[in-house]
Amino acid sequence: MSDHAQAFLDGLKQRNPNEPEFHQAAEELVHSVWSLMEQIPAYRSQRILERVTEPERVIQFRVVWENDRGEIEVNKGYRIQFNSALGPYKGGLRFHPSVNLSVLKFLGFEQIFKNALTGLPMGGGKGGSDFDPKGRSDREVMRFCHAFMTELHRHIGPDTDVPAGDIGVGGREIGYLYGQYRRLANEWTGTLTGKGFDYGGSRIRPEATGYGAVYYTMEILKHMGRSLQGLTCTVSGSGNVAQYCTEKLIQQGAKVVTLSDSGGFIHDPAGIDTEKLAYVMQLKNVERGRISAYASRFPGSSFHEGQRPWVVPCHWAFPCATQNEIETGDAQQLVTNGVMGVSEGANMPTTLPAVERLRSAGKVVAPAKAANAGGVAVSGLEMSQNSLRLQWTREEVDSRLQGIMANIHQQSLEAAGEGANGVDYIKGANVAGFKRVADTMLAYGIT
Ligand code: NDP
Repeated sequence: MSDHAQAFLDGLKQRNPNEPEFHQAAEELVHSVWSLMEQIPAYRSQRILERVTEPERVIQFRVVWENDRGEIEVNKGYRIQFNSALGPYKGGLRFHPSVNLSVLKFLGFEQIFKNALTGLPMGGGKGGSDFDPKGRSDREVMRFCHAFMTELHRHIGPDTDVPAGDIGVGGREIGYLYGQYRRLANEWTGTLTGKGFDYGGSRIRPEATGYGAVYYTMEILKHMGRSLQGLTCTVSGSGNVAQYCTEKLIQQGAKVVTLSDSGGFIHDPAGIDTEKLAYVMQLKNVERGRISAYASRFPGSSFHEGQRPWVVPCHWAFPCATQNEIETGDAQQLVTNGVMGVSEGANMPTTLPAVERLRSAGKVVAPAKAANAGGVAVSGLEMSQNSLRLQWTREEVDSRLQGIMANIHQQSLEAAGEGANGVDYIKGANVAGFKRVADTMLAYGIT
């Protein structure tokens, strides 16, 4: 990296101390787009990088609610309204004890360029709380969601900021959040996405992130003259993204041999088929159980407590749980076992040194902001349907999703070109997404 780029990053770290996840996300982007600063002098003179790394607005608030024992609980709530150059702020809400300002700023920052890649009119934002829904009753989750929205509602709206789900925020939570928004705002404008179909949700939204990650990987493999048929895949996580990534991989003739949660991973050498996946969906979405139960249920499979799935040999790895879940040692293990590529279903699941390890061995890395953009793309389509007061069919939404993922692949490919170690999809996605945002910011003047 050039001295100028390093000086920029040093300044960013100084201005934003104690935000390691945000520094990591910014470093990856700056590394990819720095050459544009020399090619397009207005980006430098107009200080686009300084502007784009500063959120337009950060909202932090108190969430007070009552648990089932009648005790008062207090949580932190946040919404980072990072960049609205391309449209209303758009990005998920995460409920997890690890949530803090750094994690949400990294997620909001990534979201800006991801949303730009979809070609839809959406800015970037992210929010959430350190509330942990695990082990809470439905009523407790409802009371928390209502209290959270009681403050958040005054900052969002259909043309201002449209939140969605993320870790810990699925269909149940979106229902409670939207129910309270509708009551307080006295309007029915679909201000959250990921809603149930009966109240304005889109077909394919639950499936979209996982399906999209597989569609994007199919485009990469097509470019390599290959397909998913017969490939062995490892998947981490067992939540929304992991489940639908697995479903689409099975449909494409791949064999999925792992899933995980924060307790460890399961390995099923025979492959997770449709019936076993239905069991996982019931276990995780309805019973809210642990993935370890899989190993007791299906003979021949095993549970590996406290470990990650990357020790299992595979052709393609799909990290779909959380950030920094592939570290250098994991990347080395994947390389040693002959992996062809890694597609990031989760946000920033691979550390920067791990990416470097994979890329220097000539492996494909499909970055999150491209590979998992299918979720926000269908959220964008949900906004369009709400504005039209119409709901499209499954086939219509799925075909638009496939078109968007193919287009993101094409943009990344064109921006990256073919290098010595194959296509650098990280650089391609960063450059293509950044240019759209930067050119729009220039068009607005000094704002
Ligand atoms: P879910 O809450 O549905 O599932 C998350 C999964 O990851 C669970 O299996 C969870 O296990 C596991 N997990 C969470 N934290 C950790 C951890 N620290 N270590 C190990 N496992 C962990 O979330 P989603 O599937 O929606 O999200 C997964 C990832 O995909 C996130 O990075 C999210 O930002 C990203 N993403 C999601 C989109 C969406 O549409 N949902 C869109 C784009 C990106 P446990 O149950 O034990 O916590």
